[in-house]
Amino acid sequence: MSEKWVNRLSDDLDEAGVKEECPRCAQTEWNAQPMHLWVTVGDEPPTNLLGEVKDYFPLAAVVCTNCGFVAFHAGLNE
Ligand SMILES: [Zn+2]
Repeated sequence: MSEKWVNRLSDDLDEAGVKEECPRCAQTEWNAQPMHLWVTVGDEPPTNLLGEVKDYFPLAAVVCTNCGFVAFHAGLNE
């Protein structure tokens, strides 16, 4: 995961007024290498006959380094 992407995620969360404290353990250290998760939507399989992925949107997952709580954030791309 690029440093640019991590900085954008941090900026977006700051701009949205997201608190830094983990909602489970209240510490403020998060995994600095968030992941992209591709979540499929709808009742159809996530790929067509050619194996192309369709009907998805990106999510970011940020993990608390103390308790493992995972927070998901939508609308972010690298
Ligand atoms: Zn935590």
